[in-house]
Parts: sequence; structure tokens; C-alpha cells
Amino acid sequence: MITNIFRPQSVAEALGLKNDLKGSVFYLAGGTEINSKDFYPQPDQLIFLEGLGLNQIQQDNEGLTIGAHCTMQQLIDDTKTPDFIKQAAAQIINRNIRNAATLGGHLVCNKPYSDIIPTLLVAGASVEIEGPQGTKVVLLSDFLQAPGTDLLVAVKIPQVKADRRVSCLNYRCSANDLSLITTAVSVVCQDRVVSEIMIILGGVGLKRQRLLAVENNLISRNFKVDRARVHSSQNEGIQPRQSQVSNLAGRVLPGVDELQNLVSRAVEATPDFRGSVVFKKYEAGVMVAQALCRACEGQAGGGS
Ligand SMILES: Cc1cc2nc3c(=O)[nH]c(=O)nc-3n(C[C@H](O)[C@H](O)[C@H](O)COP(=O)(O)OP(=O)(O)OC[C@H]3O[C@@H](n4cnc5c(N)ncnc54)[C@H](O)[C@@H]3O)c2cc1C
Repeated sequence: MITNIFRPQSVAEALGLKNDLKGSVFYLAGGTEINSKDFYPQPDQLIFLEGLGLNQIQQDNEGLTIGAHCTMQQLIDDTKTPDFIKQAAAQIINRNIRNAATLGGHLVCNKPYSDIIPTLLVAGASVEIEGPQGTKVVLLSDFLQAPGTDLLVAVKIPQVKADRRVSCLNYRCSANDLSLITTAVSVVCQDRVVSEIMIILGGVGLKRQRLLAVENNLISRNFKVDRARVHSSQNEGIQPRQSQVSNLAGRVLPGVDELQNLVSRAVEATPDFRGSVVFKKYEAGVMVAQALCRACEGQAGGGS
């Protein structure tokens, strides 16, 4: 049972409370997880983060700094947020949840179905944390290995280079379901040649996956983005996407079907009541192939 809710007005005060209080003590942000009866261990004292001023979004030459207490809806509504982050946040199920759920709480929970973590990972995000040892900035990928109990203060997104394109997509079985598959892809195109690819996939298995084998396979093909075909694809639907990437000799490579197969083979899927291994692998292939094509086209995302 919760016996106390503290309302510190500064980071230092919050850290002091966390250090001094005894028992099952947790930070409280939007409360979407911690107020659940399934949250374990149940808290008996809460430190509410609202008064800490961690709800700012700031842009400077280094990139974007998002306060940990920003809600998902705030990310979507703020003009400083890049489109690819807005798209990822918009994938979260509905406005009620997005109005309450904070980015900090979301990262600490680190759910495999997260709709926004894959995008933050391909964007090279890092997090700023405050604890008894002082301030640390660590890569988000490292933080997610063991989120720990320190105070997450901010998320930093490095300035996205003009030649980097990020796209995300998710698939859910019904409008009221968590994502069965969620993916984000970033590509770097220099003079139309794709020189870097990063693919992160969530929801399909017990853990989020980086598809390194697929990335390496695609990079070794030395393919380029064909702007003329990309342009025409906007009017002609999904089919022309099959021919929007070609290798340096102009040969079409790889087609959407081939991409799907490549991804499906590489993915590790866990069956559950929502889908078999075969289904999840197939859908993951479709999602990643589409996200990759959208990234090559310069589209930030799509939604399910
Ligand atoms: C009904 C429902 C539907 C959902 N749908 C989706 C969806 O479609 N897609 C999706 O990706 N996610 C979804 N989620 C997950 C949701 O995004 C997360 O629950 C939410 O982001 C958690 O943030 P919060 O602010 O509510 O955290 P809280 O519940 O307040 O806290 C969660 C945990 O994080 C800790 N914490 C919070 N803030 C900090 C901080 N700054 N520093 C350190 N520790 C902190 C708390 O102590 C606690 O351990 C859903 C959740 C629910 C309940």
C-alpha cells in the first residue's frame, strides 16, 4: 500500500529522498505502469517527478534534449521534435496513454513492444542520468541493458545529418492492442548511394533485435536510391517501391520480396496467442522492407 507521495521541487531534493527513504521507494512519472496491479514490487512510497522541471524540449547545435518528464503527446505537439520521433510517438496506442506516459518512464520500463525505442536507437540517442555517483551520459542502447534505479533526467538525440533518413512502422492485431511488431530503420545516403543502414525490430521476440546480418548483406550490395523512381512511387502506390533501389550498375536490387525473405530468415520470433513463429517472421519481413523503402524515400513513418 502506498503510504506517502513526496513532491520534490528539484533534482537534488528528489535524489536526497531516494537516498534517505526506506522500503519500496519508486519515482512516479505518468503512473501508467506503476499504478498497475501487476507492477512488481508494489511501491509503498513514491517520489513524484512533476515539480522537477524535466518537461522541456530544447534544441541546440548538438541536437535535441528531451526532458524525461515530457509526455509522448508533448513530443508530438512540439515543433522542435523531428518528424521521425513524432511518427514513433504517434504509434503509441491512443491519446489518453500518450497524455500520461512520459519518455523517462517508458525507457525505464523498456518493454519489448515499445513503439518509440527502436526509433531512438537508430537515431543514436543517449540518456542523462543522475544518481549518488553524480551525472552520467550513456548511450541508450547501454542504458537499456540494465535501466537501474537512478533518476533519468533527459534523452539526447544527436543532430541528424542531412543525409540520414529515419523511418518507423508498427503492426498491431487490433486498434486496442500493443504492437506485435515495431521497427525503425535509418539509412545514410551520400550521393544517392546507401552507405549505412541500421535496423531495429521489437515485439517479435522476447527481446528487441538489431538485424546486423541484414544490414551487412544490404550494404555489401552497394545500392543507391533512385530519386526518379522514388518520385513516381508517390503516385503509384506500393508496387513501384520494388524498383526504387538499384545497384551502382543500375540493376534493380533488392526487390521488396527479396528484402522480406532476407529479414524473415534473420528474425528470431517467439510464438504466443497473437501469432505463430511463421506469421511473426513473415510480418516482420513485410514491416522492415516497407520501413527501409520509406527511409530511402525520405518518409519518416507510416503507422499500422
Ligand atoms: C494501457 C496501456 C497501453 C499502452 N500502450 C502502449 C503502446 O501502444 N505503445 C508503447 O510503446 N507503449 C505503450 N504503453 C507503455 C507506456 O508507454 C508506458 O507505460 C509509459 O511510457 C511509462 O511511463 P510513465 O510515465 O507512465 O511511467 P510510470 O508508470 O510513472 O513509471 C514506470 C517506471 O519508471 C520509473 N520512472 C519513471 N520516470 C523515471 C525517471 N525519470 N527516472 C527514473 N525512473 C523513472 C518508475 O519508478 C517506474 O519504475 C502502454 C501502457 C499502458 C498502461
